Amino acid sequence: MVDPDCLFCKIVEGEVPAEIVREGERTVAFRDINPQAPTHVLVIPREHHPDVASASAGDTGLMDVLAREAHEVAVAEGIAETGYRLVFNTGAGAGQTVFHLHGHLLGGRGLNWPPG
Ligand code: AMP
Ligand code: ZN
Repeated sequence: MVDPDCLFCKIVEGEVPAEIVREGERTVAFRDINPQAPTHVLVIPREHHPDVASASAGDTGLMDVLAREAHEVAVAEGIAETGYRLVFNTGAGAGQTVFHLHGHLLGGRGLNWPPG
């Protein structure tokens, strides 16, 4: 399913340019336009799901695929050994601004806990 008004659906469709670093059968990974760490890649499903809750509700294995793809990007970026964070902001109150599910893959610097 594609939402014609969704920015990330447009990236999947190639209608909006992005620096794509990995493509899978069900996922696309591209660099965040406003990086918060040396590696900041967004891993998204090709299918439109507003957030992690709706994507996981159907039990389609999609979240497993996203986690695997994120790890493969981390390996390619050289941050799998040093450590990385995979974040799914869910809801406007948690900072979600694009309502097409995306995992933020962050690494390449020390990451504080708890996050702000
Ligand atoms: P969130 O705030 O969790 O919804 O994350 C949305 C992310 O998308 C932000 O980190 C933005 O910098 C990023 N973003 C917005 N537009 C684009 C774009 N055209 N290409 C790449 N990243 C984008
Ligand atoms: Zn979408």
